[in-house]
Amino acid sequence: MLACINLLMDRWKQAHGEILTDVAIAASLLAFTLRLALTQFHQQQEIAHRKAAQKQATASHQEVGRLLDDSRRQTAEITQVSELGSLLHACTSREEVFRLIPERLRRLFPGASGAISLLSASGNRVDSAAQWGVNPTDQIFSPEQCWALRRGCTHVHPGGRSEPRCSHLLGEGASVCIPLIANGDAIGTFSLQEDDRLSPIPDRAPDADALARRRQLADTVAEHIALAMANLSLREALRLEAIRDPLTGLYNRRYMQEFLERELHSARRKRRPLAVMMLDLDHFKRYNDNFGHSAGDQALAVVGETLLRCVRADDVACRYGGEEFALILPECSLRQATVRAEEIRSCISEYHARRSDRAADTLTVSIGVAAFDETTDRVDLLLKFADEALYEAKRAGRDRVVAAHPAAGLPESSFLDPVPVSIASTKST
Ligand code: GH3
Ligand code: MG
Ligand code: MG
Repeated sequence: MLACINLLMDRWKQAHGEILTDVAIAASLLAFTLRLALTQFHQQQEIAHRKAAQKQATASHQEVGRLLDDSRRQTAEITQVSELGSLLHACTSREEVFRLIPERLRRLFPGASGAISLLSASGNRVDSAAQWGVNPTDQIFSPEQCWALRRGCTHVHPGGRSEPRCSHLLGEGASVCIPLIANGDAIGTFSLQEDDRLSPIPDRAPDADALARRRQLADTVAEHIALAMANLSLREALRLEAIRDPLTGLYNRRYMQEFLERELHSARRKRRPLAVMMLDLDHFKRYNDNFGHSAGDQALAVVGETLLRCVRADDVACRYGGEEFALILPECSLRQATVRAEEIRSCISEYHARRSDRAADTLTVSIGVAAFDETTDRVDLLLKFADEALYEAKRAGRDRVVAAHPAAGLPESSFLDPVPVSIASTKST
């Protein structure tokens, strides 16, 4: 438009040789006003553009910040989960696992209560093994109360009173229960429950992505826990296999020898007594011949049961080999051990008679007893002396207890029961 006015004025000047002053002034004014309006319009447009760009930049900045926060949080979570996995893997007992879990998972799932509950061996009961947060789960509940255990897959509940809801959870927040699967079997459940009093992600309501990520994280944690439990069970089974006799459930000879060395060392250091018993079933070959090898195996298992019932928590009963057994009795004098041996002898024959349905089926045992420092102060000879006492019992007619001779020339014992015991052959009549 301005260009048009300028053009008109130029034409006028060329045609008339002079400027039409009033018209020129008016035109100039108009041109100026128009230029001003146009400039203002451009400026306003520019400002609007800048504002929009600034708004966009702020939004992008916030988005980048959020993504950065998320990525930092995810990195921290991955680090924590891998650290948890490594710690769980290094745990040597279930107690260690359950001490570790609450502290670690509280950090990993802020604003959520949680619990690890394990199925009992019978599969009829679930016991809480670890809990944390403000919304606990029942200490003991039945597997039917947990939808994850019923269905064998993760159960997510949005919160509130809507159904189906796991009734072992005591709060009402959104929850997830994940079955712990080890070697294909459910061994328990891992429950997480949002706590209304705390915001799971500070200053921001949890969005769908955040919840999905949390669930994924919980799945990974459940896998780590189940794997750790499976490893511990396997290690425990291997350890027991290495130290237990499968037929009787008693310790094996290798374990007994290690235990004896430790106990002898401690007895010597603390100046405490320690007794050992060697037991041998009488005429067991004949027993096998009469009733068969499998009846013989059953009899050995019954002797194992009897010994386990007779010993104290600190004692060790082992199957020494074949139909021979050994007992180690820490802090027990020769006399006390002799009395215990007599109880065990009568217990074995009575218990066997009660359990057996064969009239002619009798099982007796001969026992030799020796004690550290009273029989010998040479640790390497203790078992030998108990064995010699056992053969003394065999020679004297079997089904009896013989205590080894107290050592000659040893300093007088300072133990609890220093009364000297000569070879005492005891046999109930
Ligand atoms: P003694 O009174 O002199 O000890 O006589 P014994 O027959 O018990 O002793 P012997 O050493 O002659 O025989 C031991 C028997 O124990 C022979 C063997 O078949 C039996 N035996 C060893 N281990 C087992 C086992 O695991 N199962 C069964 N059924 N028998 C076993
Ligand atoms: Mg024998
Ligand atoms: Mg025998």
